[in-house]
Parts: sequence; C-alpha cells; structure tokens
Amino acid sequence: MLKRKVTDCVNMSSDINPYESLREQIDDAGKYLDIGDGVLERLKSPERILETNLSVELDDGSTGVFRAYRSQFNGARGPYKGGIRYHPGVSRDEVKALSGWMVYKSAVVDIPYGGGKGGIVIDPREYSEDELERITRAFATELRPLIGEDRDIPAPDVNTGQREMNWIKDTYETLENTTAPGVITGKAIDSGGSEGRVEATGRSTMLTAREAFAYLGRDITGTTVAIQGFGNAGSIAAKLLQDEQNAAIVAVSDSSGAVYNEDGLDVHDLKAFKSETGSVMGYDGATEELTNEELLTLDVDLLVPAALENAIDGELAEDVKVDVIVEAANGPLTPKADSILTERDVCIVPDILANAGGVTVSYFEWVQNRQRFYWTEQKVNEELERHISTAFNDLIDCYEELDLPNFRTAAYVVAVQRVLDASEEAGQWP
Ligand code: NAD
Repeated sequence: MLKRKVTDCVNMSSDINPYESLREQIDDAGKYLDIGDGVLERLKSPERILETNLSVELDDGSTGVFRAYRSQFNGARGPYKGGIRYHPGVSRDEVKALSGWMVYKSAVVDIPYGGGKGGIVIDPREYSEDELERITRAFATELRPLIGEDRDIPAPDVNTGQREMNWIKDTYETLENTTAPGVITGKAIDSGGSEGRVEATGRSTMLTAREAFAYLGRDITGTTVAIQGFGNAGSIAAKLLQDEQNAAIVAVSDSSGAVYNEDGLDVHDLKAFKSETGSVMGYDGATEELTNEELLTLDVDLLVPAALENAIDGELAEDVKVDVIVEAANGPLTPKADSILTERDVCIVPDILANAGGVTVSYFEWVQNRQRFYWTEQKVNEELERHISTAFNDLIDCYEELDLPNFRTAAYVVAVQRVLDASEEAGQWP
C-alpha cells in the first residue's frame, strides 16, 4: 500500500485569500460571457459547507478535537468531486476555493462532475497511524450523509493517499451495509483503484507542457525545467518530462530547500534519495543548493509550481524569468503575480487544466467501479491524453476566437460557460 509523505507546513504568502482569488478568476471570465450578476454570484459561491469538530480518543487516552470541513460548491454538471487535505493550514475559505476550482477543472476537461473539497486542520506528522485511522473514520462518519457514488465523491489531496481513501471507503460501506467502491477515488488497486491514478496529475502536467511548447512553436526536447515541490504531482511531472519529453530537470525543491544541477538531475535517483532521507537536500547529484525563492526565479525554460497555493506573489513575480509556467499545484500564483506575468507575456497553463489529470483518472476509476470492469494502464493513459489534448484545443480555440489576455481566462470562459449551460438547462427551482 502506498503511503504519502507528509508535506511540511511552510507558510507561503498566507495573506492572500484563495477564495478571493477564485472569485476574481470567475469575474474575469464573466466579462466575456452573457451572464447576469445574480447568476455569476451563484457560480462564485458554494452551495453548502459542512463544518464539524471530530472528537477522537488518542493513544494516551486523552481526547483530541479536530476541525474538519467539506464544501460542495456546485453540482450542476454531476456529483460533487474533490480531494481531502490534511494540513494545519486548512481553513473554511481554503476549502471553499479548492472546491470551486474543482467545479471549473471538471468542466474544462468536460467530465460529468461538479466540485467539492474537504479537509482536516491537522499536522498528520504528530499522530500515530492508529490515531490517523480513528480521525479519518470519524470524518468519514460525518461525511456519510453527504457522500455517495452519485452524490459526492472524495479523493486524495495534500497529505492523504490510498491509505486514507481505503479507510473512508471501508467506513462508508460498513455503515451503509453495501459495497460502493465508487464512493471515493484514489484507492489502492486491490481496493478498486485505477491503474495510472497515482501518475495522473504529473502526467497531465507533462502533457499540457508538451502542448504549450508545441503551440509556441518550440521544441520541448532539451528544455530546462525547475520544479517546486517534489511530492506526488511534482516528482511524477519531473519523471515524465525527463523520460518522455527528454527535458532536463535542472532544479527541484521541497519544503526544506532546492537542489540544482545545470546539466540536469537524475530524477529517478533523486526520488530514491528523497524516499530514503525524507528530503531532496543533501543529494550528491546536485552541484548547488538553493532556496525555494532562488528556484522560482531561475532562468530556465519551464517552471512547474507543484507545492501549495500562493507560491508566487506580486513581489516575487517581478523576478520570475521563465517564459512558460505550468501550474501543477492549485492556485500557485496570486492574482497580482498572474497579472504581472501576463503583462510580460509569460505563457501560463492554468492549474484547472494542467493538474486536471488527477480528477480525470479519478473519473475513469469511478467509471470502472460502476461497471466493475477494469482497464489496462495503457487504456487509462490513452484516454487521459485524449481528454487533456481535447481540453487544450478547446482552450486555444476560445483564446484565439475571443482574443483573450491569457490561457487562464480562456480556461475559465470555457468552463464557466459549460457550468452555466447545465444550470440554465436545469432551470430555476424553487
Ligand atoms: P504532496 O504532499 O505529495 O507534495 C507536496 C510537495 O510540496 C512536498 O514535496 C513538499 O515538501 C513540497 N512543499 C511544501 N511546501 C513547499 C515550499 N514552500 N517550497 C517547496 N516545496 C514545498 O502533495 P501533492 O499531491 O503533490 O499536491 C501538490 C499540489 O498539487 C497541491 O496544490 C495539490 O492540491 C495539487 N494537486 C494534486 C493532485 C494529486 O492528484 N496529487 C491533483 C490535483 C492537484
């Protein structure tokens, strides 16, 4: 069973409220759509939020109380869908923002889901595996009336993985006295998971980077790449960019700092080193160690932020030198950074497309669960590539047709229009 590494709690620009960023992004798209203020407000606000306090017995016999949330943002296109994050920085507004991004991410890749997100305010490094299991099962019990194969389908996010998904599935199935593997995605293969799910987010990051370079008329082979965050999304994007696109990954960071080698790092070796030591720092294939800020401002061809929100704010954006950014993380640029980089004509592939591989293969997992018929990894990867390439082309058509300022606005125009169409077809009731 795959266990996830715990993401260190590092403060990025925590003064930026991600929910406000989301609302600004939807407002930007709204300028190009025929949409009234009331309807736009509806598309910027969650439908409902569960806020609960989980009370759990700890190993020493004391009681721990943990704040937890689940936001169901919009269900016009299908069941709510989105991950569960364990992090001390989880907040009501962060969960609202992440659930909204899920709505538009699912819409941009045209899969039949709405958006949701959940989280527990916790630093999981401070708890034993038994405690984490009790906390997760307590959360699953609170979630039980809200989730279901046709209602709301959680998935992994930062600091959760197959282990937590398996516990949630088991709790739900036990309480409902049924089998329902499609109630959650990101499960281990033996528990109904899909081939290719672990790699999916890194794979869509690689695919959208490839498409962006092709659109710019540039060859991705031999390009230099810096990657912030070497967890699930970042390390797999690094591996696939190196192995399948022959790019040189010259710098990689995690929460402890960055390593650099101008001739390219051996990503497989670095990954093995990090698995052993818990950090990229001290890796002997690097020629230099850098700070996280130095990595983000390196003069390379492609920057992939793959850590947390708000990694690049307005101040740092002034020093960013790359001309292509592919957002593996959700919300890595503040709105100010986004407008500074757009002014400078930096090509930014937005998170809602770049990291949509995760939710797309989650959708394939759910389809397989519903059919009780499982696909090969090759079929999963081919279907993923088809969805991501189609979505990229839809984005480009919209970008060119409306002469939009950047790819992010184009992605939101496509996605908001799709959600709007579904809402209008459903009609207003009551
Ligand atoms: P993860 O916990 O596996 O990895 C996060 C990595 O970021 C870790 O290596 C951590 O050390 C590093 N990090 C944390 N703070 C940092 C800092 N200040 N500087 C540099 N590195 C730092 O998480 P993940 O699943 O890879 O998720 C990363 C991002 O991708 C998140 O924004 C998440 O929402 C997004 N995302 C993930 C998936 C998925 O399927 N895993 C899908 C869509 C989006």
